[in-house]
Amino acid sequence: MAHKKQLLPFRNAIRAEEVPEYMKRWEERLSGFVRIEEIGNCSGFPIFAAFFTDPSVDDKHKQIALFTAQHSGMEITGMTTLLSLGNYLASGADDAREIMKKQIVVIVPCSNPYSYSKLSPEYHFKNEAGVDEYISFKYDGVKDPEIAPAAYATQMLIDRLKPELLIDCHGVNYEHQMVLESLGYSAFVLNRMHDRRFCDAIQQGAVDRGFGVMNEDLMQKLIPSEEMCKTSPYRARFRPGAEGGPSTVYAYIKYHTVAATMEIHWEESGLYRLLAALKHGNEEYPVNIIAYPQGHHAVCVGGENAAKTRENRIRLWQNADKISTAIIHPELIGVGGLLVTTSKDKIQRYFREHQEGLPIESLLEDLKDEPNMDMEGLNRFFEENPNQHAALHDMQASEESVSMGGMVIRLVAPFEDAKETKVLLNGRALSKDEYSTKLVESNYYVEILLPDDYEYDTALALFTYDCKHPYEGILEF
Ligand SMILES: [Zn+2]
Repeated sequence: MAHKKQLLPFRNAIRAEEVPEYMKRWEERLSGFVRIEEIGNCSGFPIFAAFFTDPSVDDKHKQIALFTAQHSGMEITGMTTLLSLGNYLASGADDAREIMKKQIVVIVPCSNPYSYSKLSPEYHFKNEAGVDEYISFKYDGVKDPEIAPAAYATQMLIDRLKPELLIDCHGVNYEHQMVLESLGYSAFVLNRMHDRRFCDAIQQGAVDRGFGVMNEDLMQKLIPSEEMCKTSPYRARFRPGAEGGPSTVYAYIKYHTVAATMEIHWEESGLYRLLAALKHGNEEYPVNIIAYPQGHHAVCVGGENAAKTRENRIRLWQNADKISTAIIHPELIGVGGLLVTTSKDKIQRYFREHQEGLPIESLLEDLKDEPNMDMEGLNRFFEENPNQHAALHDMQASEESVSMGGMVIRLVAPFEDAKETKVLLNGRALSKDEYSTKLVESNYYVEILLPDDYEYDTALALFTYDCKHPYEGILEF
């Protein structure tokens, strides 16, 4: 008996041809806050982006969130969710206004209108040239822009905005069709967010409203990393995952964007999750750490405003292979330090005969020739805090150097009641207005921003602090 294949009814949505007019209504609804712009064209269909922001606040103070959908042509709920988000922002609700004061939100609901216009499973993952726009991205961009115009338009937009956040919205095509509502659990191993807490907080936006989402409870396997994970007999003991990656992986690699694809069944779940992400961004997106020797002291980035911080982040992120770090070791309670240099020549010279650890006396001898070191201050610090050496953590790969301006050296005391007693940069004691502090999950940070015109290739940050610390030794009960 021959089966005739019935086409399921498509999700309630609008047609590709109607999307531009639909978006233009936002401009009228919240005049001055919304701008619609054509960012490309695929096979005769213009591709539109909507820019939402409060014009009364200078853009240089804002972080940038980019949301895209429908690279694949279908997965209609990605688009319907972004149209819903546009409607919400254009409604001028209080929290929408708050978001637009602090951020520029860019929405591309229908990035591949040609394939979507076909409303056919045949064109899911296929454009006019027979190419899948979704996977046209390579690590360094779209390989063949002529045959992947939708992917290329998205790349051009990412390169222009250099966004802090990118979520590419996916989903389902048919009425009553379900998908596990996930974020960063892609077929591609690299297509996941680098900050688990941020990812979880976004998903929680839907859980709080009663939506079931994909979670770690559903997958008790490690993410494959080493070659061994990919071969028999071990393959089945790791999560599935392909190499490569779409736009999100490109944005992470190039700009340290926190990025992943989101699967959406219910538009409401998608909307609440995107709003949870945006509300997090009203504070700051987690994108400013460049290197973290041993996981706590860190090389971060800063700047006088969001735009300057973005510029500094991109320069330092793209030149992370030109940064060497060594920590002051052993890490004793009450004292810490981090040596950072962008001179491969110097770090090699310092550590040539001291792979296991450079005695402080030798380090001080080496630093004597540095024009920016206050040797008296350094000598005094290590007389008061003896028995230490410098332990090399990251040796840079590149001989070239990069400006250290905009770098933030973060020293961390892992005690919630820690209070700094002395902070030194290059041997000079800093006053309270020359560094900043904050407490994050019981870690106390002291952060020193190197000015844009920092003209040296070496910095040594040191601090001492007071704290009450827990009992040491065997616990008896
Ligand atoms: Zn998908």
